Amino acid sequence: MEDFKVTPWEVDGVVDYDKLIVEFGTSPLTEELIQKTAELTKSELPIFFRRRFFFSHRDYDKVLADYESGKGFFLYTGRGPSGPMHIGHIIPFFATKWLQEKFGVNLYIQVTDDEKFLFKETLGFEETKHWAYDNILDIIAVGFDPDKTFIFQNSEFTKIYEMAIPIAKKINFSMAKAVFGFNEQSKIGMIFYPAIQAAPTFFEKKRCLIPAAIDQDPYWRLQRDFAESLGYYKTAAIHSKFVPGLTSLGGKMSASKPETAVYLTDDPEEAGKKIWNFALTGGRATAKEQREKGGEPEKCVVFKWFEIFFEPDDEKLMERYRACKGGELLCGQCKRELIERVQEFLREHQERRKKAEKQVEKFKYTGEL
Ligand code: SF4
Repeated sequence: MEDFKVTPWEVDGVVDYDKLIVEFGTSPLTEELIQKTAELTKSELPIFFRRRFFFSHRDYDKVLADYESGKGFFLYTGRGPSGPMHIGHIIPFFATKWLQEKFGVNLYIQVTDDEKFLFKETLGFEETKHWAYDNILDIIAVGFDPDKTFIFQNSEFTKIYEMAIPIAKKINFSMAKAVFGFNEQSKIGMIFYPAIQAAPTFFEKKRCLIPAAIDQDPYWRLQRDFAESLGYYKTAAIHSKFVPGLTSLGGKMSASKPETAVYLTDDPEEAGKKIWNFALTGGRATAKEQREKGGEPEKCVVFKWFEIFFEPDDEKLMERYRACKGGELLCGQCKRELIERVQEFLREHQERRKKAEKQVEKFKYTGEL
């Protein structure tokens, strides 16, 4: 029996990322590709690459070859607005920002208010539109280049329907069912939706690169089945792992379990309390035992958060690992240090988010470049 499950709507159990590469039929993001990225961008790699937060890909080698030959590429990513964004949602956007800056390419961000309305039984249409605006502020706050970043909300950007029509003619029900597992109870809007989601991969006559968490891969698998028959490239993708929630290392931070998540709009003091009360550590039963045996950073969410985002300095991360293993660092101190980093991030993000309110129009994609 499967001990974990990963679909675009559900992540359950302790994910084995190596197994997922085999199951999804993707390729590992090799050292060679990572080094090639550094060479082409003439840049020091960000932690997302150095520490293999991005671990898998489809055709990323072709993206780099297209860039090198001058053909170029463009980026596409998105957000399903069903509630407030948390830290796990925003980290891949920082990686996307790095790619945009270093390669100097256009980025399209699809905000899928229609998808969330269709797929989430309890969500009203006005509610998802409200969250779309709210989430767009968080995305802008990441600091994307306004001249090269185009954000659109499906329910407003109606031109997308025109683009989805030829795609919808290429996908039959069996293809969609094989990828998404639709059944007789599935709403007809859900069945059409993959055509809408695939449309932005055709926004430019260049190869599209999608940086996203691995659970979104099924959508692009389908696109790759028909893209060439419409005269476009099969989309490329690089896949990230999940940011774990506070209470468990296995799965991903989940908006449906509020105690596992730190939201970008959380009051920094409250966020600190949440981390203090709920963050899983690899600590021992007593301080005495921890001093004697050392902690277990491999089992620790606090360490994982430092590794994924909150400790950019490799040497300092190693020092923390060694101090934990050696019993010199205790969990209380370590948690306090993480809380300080998270609070500082939240304060800065919330300031940028406030400024973003005046920038929304500047980022809005109308179909014209
Ligand atoms: Fe985790 Fe830090 Fe405790 Fe080690 S000392 S187990 S890294 S919280």
